[in-house]
Amino acid sequence: MNLAILGATGSIGSSTLDVVSRHGGRYRIFALTANGRADALLALCRTHHPPYAVLSSAAPDAKLAAAFKECGTELLFGARALEQVASDSRVDVVMAAIVGAAGLASTLAAARAGKRVLLANKEALVMAGPLLTRAAREGGATLLPVDSEHNAVFQCLSDIKAVRRIVLTASGGPFRTSALDTLDAVTPDQACAHPNWVMGRKISVDSATMMNKGLEVIEARWLFDVPPQTIEVVIHPQSIVHSLVEYVDGSLIAQLSNPDMRVPIAHALGYPERISSGARSLDLTTMKDLTFEKPDERRFPCLRLAYSALERGGTAPAILNAANEVAVEAFLAGRLPFTGIARVIAETLAAVGAGEASSLDAVMAADNESRRAAGTRVAGLAPALSS
Ligand code: NAD
Ligand code: MG
Repeated sequence: MNLAILGATGSIGSSTLDVVSRHGGRYRIFALTANGRADALLALCRTHHPPYAVLSSAAPDAKLAAAFKECGTELLFGARALEQVASDSRVDVVMAAIVGAAGLASTLAAARAGKRVLLANKEALVMAGPLLTRAAREGGATLLPVDSEHNAVFQCLSDIKAVRRIVLTASGGPFRTSALDTLDAVTPDQACAHPNWVMGRKISVDSATMMNKGLEVIEARWLFDVPPQTIEVVIHPQSIVHSLVEYVDGSLIAQLSNPDMRVPIAHALGYPERISSGARSLDLTTMKDLTFEKPDERRFPCLRLAYSALERGGTAPAILNAANEVAVEAFLAGRLPFTGIARVIAETLAAVGAGEASSLDAVMAADNESRRAAGTRVAGLAPALSS
């Protein structure tokens, strides 16, 4: 099976390569992509010798291309090359693991081309749920969830018509029990120090604000085609139960494992077969507690913002997603306090009108407008930081 890994230098990309390396011969790496970090991409090509690699942020560079050629790899440049490798007729499986809106066009291209799409790039589905699911239907693609919660739900689903509720679990992140008046002063490193998972910095901040769970509610709405009120969120600090499905008869089915992304990645790669992931067995006898609590809306205002964008519909989720990306980037760069993230998103959602999400152009226009509006708000809040 030929595999293209979009976002190969990231956290999901490297876990995917780890699982693949346990199944010599079953998967052939056709393409690896990265945004910058040419050295990291080159190191991967020296190990995996894919026929193609893509550096999406870079302009053509003959010296760099020659270094890749020595691994038997043709290096392509620019964002359009992502769509090219994602839809290449020789590719069977696409791991969509680019972070953020930057992954939408290539994920959509893979869906249109009828690939098996392993979806980590949740932002694509948040921005363009109806477009992406329609493209998959029409293109004959299969969307398999890699996000641990959605992969868990997928594993627990048998009769979608008989589902009473879908319960997404959330760890609560690093600030679950911090005093609320200390949140203004938390640093990017504190926000990225997730108690249970090691992930890229953007999703780590999203976990700290719980916007990650908000995005996942929207992701679940489109992946499983259920109304928003069917989807609930509970905080489960141990990150052992990855999500649950309740049926009309009252049965609640859960999927459990150690928190290790190789579990959902192996599930999606092997599906419908089970293949080994390298994850440790869960020792039930050493688990002390499995606890569940209701999310506190004052601590995690982003969760409510996501539900309201979903209810508003159209391009509102794309506006929410773009404002979040701008605010998180500003927080990581020290230009916005942690608590400013929710404020920027709320104000941007109030200021930017949502329209129909009828085409990729319409979604990208909403994304652009939201980025501009959010950028203005970040600049407005910045003086508060330096005073
Ligand atoms: P990461 O930051 O570790 O890696 C991101 C990858 O995307 C890198 O290869 C980077 O080069 C590439 N990239 C970044 N910006 C790009 C751009 N503008 N154009 C093209 N490529 C770009 O991120 P990650 O933690 O691996 O997350 C990837 C996706 O998977 C995100 O959507 C995230 O929400 C989702 N996800 C991650 C985890 C996890 O455990 N890390 C779990 C569930 C879902
Ligand atoms: Mg998740």
